[in-house]
Amino acid sequence: MYLPIYTYDHPVLKQRTHQVTRFDGELVALVMNMLETMRHAHGIGLAANQVGKSMAATVVDISETDGNKKVKPVVLINPTIIDDDGESTYEEGCLSLPGLREDVVRPERIQVRFNDINMREITMDADGLLARVIQHEIDHLNGIYFFERLSKLKQALVKPELSKIRRHAVDVDYELAPMPERPRKSLVRR
Ligand code: ZN
Repeated sequence: MYLPIYTYDHPVLKQRTHQVTRFDGELVALVMNMLETMRHAHGIGLAANQVGKSMAATVVDISETDGNKKVKPVVLINPTIIDDDGESTYEEGCLSLPGLREDVVRPERIQVRFNDINMREITMDADGLLARVIQHEIDHLNGIYFFERLSKLKQALVKPELSKIRRHAVDVDYELAPMPERPRKSLVRR
């Protein structure tokens, strides 16, 4: 089942997600729906809070990208980066920030520890695009957008685009979740 995707600056994306403690059918169903939603939207990673669930769960699948056919999809529950090395720059985008693409500097290689869907603890080494996407998704789980990794100057320059995204004045071919009601600043005419 496709789920609507939450966008900037919905509160669920700014809060650190809760650790997953129950590895039950509900979690399996959520992960299946996240995989379906990610593929439908042509994404290569999706965090649970991007579909409105404040849970430390994320899915990554880079197998459709050039040269990565053999890289299997990964489901990471309660992931933490325990080591990193090197540095690389790559142009990132985000299903929660449609239209925005910017070069982001991150470590090139990581070691990540997480639970799989059966609660087994896994330690995995990743580099290149896989490491990149995992870091982007773990940022989401910690309430961080990729643009917050840019210089202050760059962040100021992307503000107009962010305000368009906030108003949903963007072209997307997937469903966006409605924004919460905001108190009106202007006077209401009666
Ligand atoms: Zn994202």
